[in-house]
Amino acid sequence: MRLYRVILLIIALCGVGLRSDAQQTNRWVVEETRGEETLYSEFPLDVAGVWKQLDSVSDELKNAVGIESSSEPVEVILFSTHASYVQYLSQKIPQARNRRAIFLRNGAVSQIYAWNSRTLMTDLRHEMVHVRIHQHLPFFPLWLDEGLAEYFEEEPGKRSVSSRRDSVRWKARLGMSPSLRALEGLPSAEAMNGDSYRDSWAWVSFLINNSAESRDTLRKYVKLIYRGEAPGPFSNFAEAESPGLTSRANSYFRKMTIVVTLDSSDR
Ligand SMILES: [Zn+2]
Repeated sequence: MRLYRVILLIIALCGVGLRSDAQQTNRWVVEETRGEETLYSEFPLDVAGVWKQLDSVSDELKNAVGIESSSEPVEVILFSTHASYVQYLSQKIPQARNRRAIFLRNGAVSQIYAWNSRTLMTDLRHEMVHVRIHQHLPFFPLWLDEGLAEYFEEEPGKRSVSSRRDSVRWKARLGMSPSLRALEGLPSAEAMNGDSYRDSWAWVSFLINNSAESRDTLRKYVKLIYRGEAPGPFSNFAEAESPGLTSRANSYFRKMTIVVTLDSSDR
């Protein structure tokens, strides 16, 4: 956790010069502001469609987990090609080269950088989850941060046919369920591989879909962090709050039932 926060702080400092770059350059063919949110793009695109996707992510996060949207500024900065994206970011954020999209926090301004790939909408949804989490909370465990981003990056109707679902189910039936303790032991984002992302997704899927009890436990954990308390590792918190809950995850992983829509009445 401490390492991850240090990384975010460094990234925030790196981002200092980037905001003015986005505002001053005339490279954008689209520049649209909606309230506190601005979208810059090197290529024409369906701006209303982007706002709709980002709004739906924010609504779901609020309804399912209790992470509220903030009125702090958000900048979405889009490039027409990977080369253009890398060229723009490479000096200040060399690690962007290996990522399809990146989220930065620059003071109160949250920025999403991405390029026009086949997965653009999914990438924007993913990074928007990080934006909302870091606007709302002073810190958050890495596995939950990435697990929520992986979960909500897919539109609701696509989640139950996610390829990750088959993989987790198959492994769970062979006795290899994702380990929460292993996820909690990840020291930094750099230590995460594809399996860590998938397993974080699986644990978030369990918490959101298994029962009202599992969902409430996650919401209570979020609320404590929001209030500035330090609830410790989620596994310890969950065991105290709802004994036996996490041990029921193994049977969930063998089925991986995913609810398509979740409104506030399901809480
Ligand atoms: Zn992420």
